[in-house]
Amino acid sequence: MSIVQDLEKLRDGFKRTARMPVVFLGHGSPTNAIEDTEFSRAWAGLGQSLPEPQAILVVSAHWMSRGTTLVNLSARPETIHDFYGFPEALYGLEYPAPGAPELAREVVTLLGSHHGEGSEEWGLDHGAWTVLRFLYPEAKVPVFQVSIDMSRGLDFQLEVGRALAALRDRGVLILGSGNVVHNLRAVRWGADATPYDFAVEFDTLFADRLGARDFAALADREGLGALLKMAHPSVDHYLPALTVAGASEASDALTFMTDAIDLGSVSMRSFIFHPA
Ligand code: ZN
Repeated sequence: MSIVQDLEKLRDGFKRTARMPVVFLGHGSPTNAIEDTEFSRAWAGLGQSLPEPQAILVVSAHWMSRGTTLVNLSARPETIHDFYGFPEALYGLEYPAPGAPELAREVVTLLGSHHGEGSEEWGLDHGAWTVLRFLYPEAKVPVFQVSIDMSRGLDFQLEVGRALAALRDRGVLILGSGNVVHNLRAVRWGADATPYDFAVEFDTLFADRLGARDFAALADREGLGALLKMAHPSVDHYLPALTVAGASEASDALTFMTDAIDLGSVSMRSFIFHPA
């Protein structure tokens, strides 16, 4: 379905705007939320360079569903501290942005072919708020999350991205938050942690295929084979990158940022598709 047809499904609550970029951020450790790192600095800089959105739709690795694509309808989404054993200061942080229930309901309709369902059982998990607090520190732009359906093939997320792409012309920033490589079992602690070969290999392959717009290769579980299993023992942190790829247009320009491998096995690679 074309973007124009998809737009017909949307009410006029959100004005037609210049097309928004789509963004994927590697969020990594929750501690990035309270540390001055190369990542948090890059997120702050990105927030200043992006056009001001009317709303932000976040697809986070940390909201997983099975058989449905859930859309959060909360008017005041709760800040969820969904991690254990981290510094106390993290648990006191709030990201008090309003939700966007009306738009979220429209998104349920937009995702009708992808088992879209409204839900009030989520808020903003750390995949969302640890980066948003740098991107938009004032927390004034309405935010809502869309879940990842863990029961589908990888190409399903590309399709979800394609369905969401219509929102780019309504001032909505589509933000994917995960990691291009994410293997917590292999994590090496310490600032000098050497990246694993598999981490560098998958990260490089991903950047190469994304740059070639060969999204089918990125969603080909068999073709990616053992390397994908090493990079992602579970694909939750990978899926939001595919959603963002799916929401891109062939004419967009692609920029990478923060392409470091953190902790040996977590790629912090982020990317932005900008309208040309
Ligand atoms: Zn995470």
